[in-house]
Parts: sequence; structure tokens; C-alpha cells
Amino acid sequence: MLNKYDKIDMHIHSTASDGTFEPKNILEEIKFKNIKLFSLTDHDSYENVEKLKELVLEEDTHFIPGVEVSSLYKGELFHILAYGTNNSNKNFTNILMNNRRQLEEKDDNSIKYLIDKGYNIEYKDYESYIHNPQRGGWKALNFLIDNKMCEDVSDYFSRVFAGNVDMKSPVFENTVNVVDAIKGAGGIPVLAHPYYINIDVDADKRLGMLYELGIEGVECYHPNHSKERTEQCITWCKKNDIIITAGSDCHGNFIPSRKIGMMNVSVEQANLKNLIQYLQEP
Ligand SMILES: [Zn+2]
Ligand SMILES: [Zn+2]
Repeated sequence: MLNKYDKIDMHIHSTASDGTFEPKNILEEIKFKNIKLFSLTDHDSYENVEKLKELVLEEDTHFIPGVEVSSLYKGELFHILAYGTNNSNKNFTNILMNNRRQLEEKDDNSIKYLIDKGYNIEYKDYESYIHNPQRGGWKALNFLIDNKMCEDVSDYFSRVFAGNVDMKSPVFENTVNVVDAIKGAGGIPVLAHPYYINIDVDADKRLGMLYELGIEGVECYHPNHSKERTEQCITWCKKNDIIITAGSDCHGNFIPSRKIGMMNVSVEQANLKNLIQYLQEP
């Protein structure tokens, strides 16, 4: 049984997306940090969920399966955390598949863009390049690093792809369809990091809009949120009586500052409501 002082971390990435940890590394950290409830939420992939589910069976911690689904609403990117979905649901898995294809295309287009800009790259070298997921990140990034055209992820965004890059953006599924598909697959849609970038829109407006689209919870605690933003999100969720979660958004050594359990939030500080139904008992 979970008790109210138990610590949670509901947002973690593995090698199935852009994190460096394998399921067993995640579990080691979870035990080391004494986290009693956690979720794996790779970008548009549940490839490692079953593996982790099995590993957790022997341990004194609870696990809820998850996926972080990319979505677009009125041109803006929203990440929706899907908890407890039935991953044999066709509609839901098709969305994930299409999103992954969009991510791969974005990678390919990035390299084509640099070739057009005069970078000395042979596209076929990129095509045959094999990305090692244990390094974290994505294929285009690691290809450029290995070819000494980019230092690291911050150089990738701040220099190589700085400013207005004239490139086709990925066409992720509409947020409305994502939310509906998660519910259709028996899961719960929770809005991830509403203030990943601290835009100047108040919580009423920002969370209200997503609430109308059907989200059932908000990741109020996230490393990118200021204390004020976190408080605003919590107040809003309490007023509307919806789920409150906390996540480190850990990517292993790919983003070293984000450590598993770093939000230090207990069951009591969050409000898990009907997420509890998916708990895998130890
Ligand atoms: Zn995200
Ligand atoms: Zn994430």
C-alpha cells in the first residue's frame, strides 16, 4: 500500500525515446532515491513499459505505465502524459506510430536543411549512420556530434539550428484527438509541464483551454516550473478538482540536471485521484 508520505516521480524517459537509461538503470535509481510510485513516459513509445513492469514485480515500489504523447493545438506543441492506456488499442497506437514517423522525418529534414545551407554532409552517410540510444538524444544530433559539426545538445539548438529555421515542422496529432484516443484506450490524459517555457499566460487561461479539451490532470511540479507557476497550477487544479502530478522529466545523462525524484513530492502533495486504479502492487 502507498502511504501519503511516499515520494512519487510520474515522468521519466528511457532509451525507448531520448533518455540514456535502460529500464534496469531506472529501477536502480528509483530504489536508491526511495521513490514508491513512478511511471515511465517515453516520447510516443511504450517499448520499454512491459520490461519495466516485469522488473518492478519483485520490488517494493509501485509502477504506472505511461507514454508522453506529442500533440498540436492551434499550432502549439503540447505534451500529453497518457497513464494506464491499453496499448493494444489500434486508434491509440496508430497515433503513436504517426508521431514517431513525424519525429524521424524531422531528423531527416534537419540534415537535408544543413546540406542545403552548405554543410559538408553526404546524405547517404547520415542514412547509414546507426544511432546508439544509450547516448540519449536523437539520430541527427549524434550524427552531427560524431562528425564534429556540433558540440552537444545546447549547441544544436543555440547555434546549428538557431533562429527562424525554414524547415517543415512535424505534423503531430491534434491535441483533441490525442486526449480522446487516450480515454478511448482506457487511460488518463494529463497535461505535461504547462510552463516548460515560462510564457506570460495565466494558469486560468492556459489550463482552462486544455481542460476544455478533456485533460484530467496537470503535471504541476516540473523542473522548468518556477515556484509561483507551480503554486498557480496547483491552485487551479484544486479549484477544478483534477489530478495533480509531479515529474522529474529525467532523461538520464542526456540532461544531467534532471534527476529521478528531484521534485521531492509526496503522494499527499500531489492529488492522484483515479490514477490509483492503475497501481501495480508490489
Ligand atoms: Zn515533454
Ligand atoms: Zn518528457
